[in-house]
Amino acid sequence: MKWLMGLLALLIVVAGASAYLWRGELAVRLVERAARQGIEASLKTELPDGLHALFCGTGSPLPDRARAGPCLAVIAGQHVFVFDAGEGASETLALMGVSQGDIEAVFLTHLHSDHFDGLAPLALQHWATASATAPLNVVGPVGAARVAAGLNEAYAIDAGYRTAHHGPEIMPPSGAGLLAREFVVPAADGETLVVHDADGVRILAFRVDHAPTDAVGYRVEYGGRVLVISGDTSRSPSLTAAARGADLLVHEVISPRLDRIIHDAAIGAGRENVGAIFNDILDYHTSPADAGAVAQEAGVGALALTHFLPQTPIRGLARVFVDEAKRSFPGPVWAMRDGDVISLPRAGGVRRSHHLRF
Ligand SMILES: [Zn+2]
Ligand SMILES: [Zn+2]
Repeated sequence: MKWLMGLLALLIVVAGASAYLWRGELAVRLVERAARQGIEASLKTELPDGLHALFCGTGSPLPDRARAGPCLAVIAGQHVFVFDAGEGASETLALMGVSQGDIEAVFLTHLHSDHFDGLAPLALQHWATASATAPLNVVGPVGAARVAAGLNEAYAIDAGYRTAHHGPEIMPPSGAGLLAREFVVPAADGETLVVHDADGVRILAFRVDHAPTDAVGYRVEYGGRVLVISGDTSRSPSLTAAARGADLLVHEVISPRLDRIIHDAAIGAGRENVGAIFNDILDYHTSPADAGAVAQEAGVGALALTHFLPQTPIRGLARVFVDEAKRSFPGPVWAMRDGDVISLPRAGGVRRSHHLRF
């Protein structure tokens, strides 16, 4: 018996040593398989007909390695749209299996830089992955065209290099960059503006309260299902009106309790400027309690929290936001992570899944 145990131990050591020695080769084999699967896979074709919210960035301007900047992709039937493109949005979409060549338009909620600083990488991937012959469409409040023109100028030299290197068939010069369409933000609460209406997909913009910016939220309708995106806002009656009866409300949040901890730490360290910023941001974002109250008043089916302020570097911290929102909204409340998908199939129901590949 003893010799058998000895032999087993020896085998385990030998297997361990070979795995260690061959770990590079094993990793290459894994990458081979993942590359084949990755190039064939498309999340769009895997999901059932319906409206799907893909969380491609659940963070804020504050540093959080686990969360890209603000980004929500929406698949409506076979159509793909993106709402805001913060830093890391393009990379997260790629890791979720979304082909960026499929994106029909990016809708901006407002022109705070953290909501568009991932736009240029998105435009590059839109161009490169599909050899696009037209630029990526960007739709947003007045000022969006100036942002697009600036980014196009900043990336013009790069675009020239790419066409020169790969040739105009692979990188057609006409497909580089962004093409903007602006709209005037509706002035009154309760007023909506149709910004897209084609093939059964309707997208409406409505004003929210994020002064001094001109900011909107969006309502997306497809196949009898509705999802509403708050954008950045303090508690807004206009949002409540637009979200009425929606299946899903995707809402930004700031935790006054956690914000206060950072504010006090900054003041304690003599960093008055940082303290002032953490004080100022409270007045144009929404607490989880208020997000829950909006969800309750609008009678939505479920509440998805995103754009976490401050950041949530410790696992479990997102629970603080959920627990507070649950006190004012009895329905499902979820703290979203990058890679999460909430599906509203045409056939009914709500499904949650996670799609972050390595
Ligand atoms: Zn903002
Ligand atoms: Zn923001």
